[in-house]
Amino acid sequence: MHLVETRDLTHVYRGNLPALQGVNFIAERKSRIAVIGPNGAGKSTLFKHFNGILKPTSGEVLVRGEPVTKENVREVRKFVGIVFQNPDDQIFSPTVEQDVAFGPTNLGLDEATVAHRVEGALHLLGIEDLRERVPHHLSGGEKKRVAIAGILAMEPQVLVLDEPTAGLDPQGVIDLMGFVNRLPEDYGMTVIFSTHHVDLVAEMADFIYVMDQGQIVASGTVEEIFARP
Ligand code: ADP
Ligand code: ADP
Repeated sequence: MHLVETRDLTHVYRGNLPALQGVNFIAERKSRIAVIGPNGAGKSTLFKHFNGILKPTSGEVLVRGEPVTKENVREVRKFVGIVFQNPDDQIFSPTVEQDVAFGPTNLGLDEATVAHRVEGALHLLGIEDLRERVPHHLSGGEKKRVAIAGILAMEPQVLVLDEPTAGLDPQGVIDLMGFVNRLPEDYGMTVIFSTHHVDLVAEMADFIYVMDQGQIVASGTVEEIFARP
């Protein structure tokens, strides 16, 4: 059974050409999966199908072998956490600490468990000293870390990061890489991410999907994708 799978997934935004066409994608346990391809290739649209934010125009999305439905979408969202490209889309609270607590509180966890998870997530992202700050006033890289911490605090098995390196300075990119690389080994998580930093993919991914114009045009291990005859 695959953690996340799409079968012949097609998505058409109303009145547009297909943003996804016949996409077959598989995420296995404890892996790091990169999705690369030019702007508009369909990466974000694909990700939004992994936890039911979008509904397939045709085809199927399966999470832990089960099709995503209205009935199980809440469970699916506990299992698959998505960090969007723009952190402003998911940061709402007056302080960083409250923002990171929002997700786990919403899951109905008790206060002590929430506090414990918030500490863990702040620590993992190295942002303990930002806890009292107003998220809105932080730098882009700091906001991104807050958004990631908020999703991590829900302890998803699958963490989806849409362009996590966008807008980060070189040190921020290195820190993020280190973080992503630890998740499968240390926490048994699977990480799926898109990036424009193709030069980083070899160090950050076990498996790569290359997208173009709504389709997967190549997939394979780092060696397979970057091997030149
Ligand atoms: P609907 O299917 O109900 O028409 P969409 O999901 O297509 O809604 O659109 C959601 C929002 O995204 C709309 O406000 C739309 O204007 C906007 N939008 C339209 N085209 C694009 C595009 N190419 N890229 C990003 N957003 C778009
Ligand atoms: P990527 O993440 O690879 O840049 P996207 O999934 O954002 O690609 O976009 C795939 C295609 O779907 C693009 O042509 C984009 O303009 C279009 N698109 C994305 N969001 C919307 C939307 N809400 N409404 C209409 N078209 C959209």
